Amino acid sequence: MAQYEFSCPRCGRFEVRMPMGSAPDIRVCPGCAGTASRVYSTLGLNRSPGVVGAFREREDRSGDSPPVVSRLPAGRRRRSPSHPALGRRPRP
Ligand SMILES: [Zn+2]
Repeated sequence: MAQYEFSCPRCGRFEVRMPMGSAPDIRVCPGCAGTASRVYSTLGLNRSPGVVGAFREREDRSGDSPPVVSRLPAGRRRRSPSHPALGRRPRP
């Protein structure tokens, strides 16, 4: 048996033990029943402890489905443009 890793865009990564060489490229996610794709990695080098792993997971998710914002987050103010033409650029 070998351990294979899959990544769901909604739930993140999960592992499945299967006979060696029998892992499909796509699998049903056990969390949301969506489509999870297989993650190919070098054996033993993809494990990151705690915070590093969380940031990597977040980075992977943002590549698949980045958050869409329609306005600046609260507390952030727009800087005045340094050139008048920059002030006429379209804004969200
Ligand atoms: Zn899922």
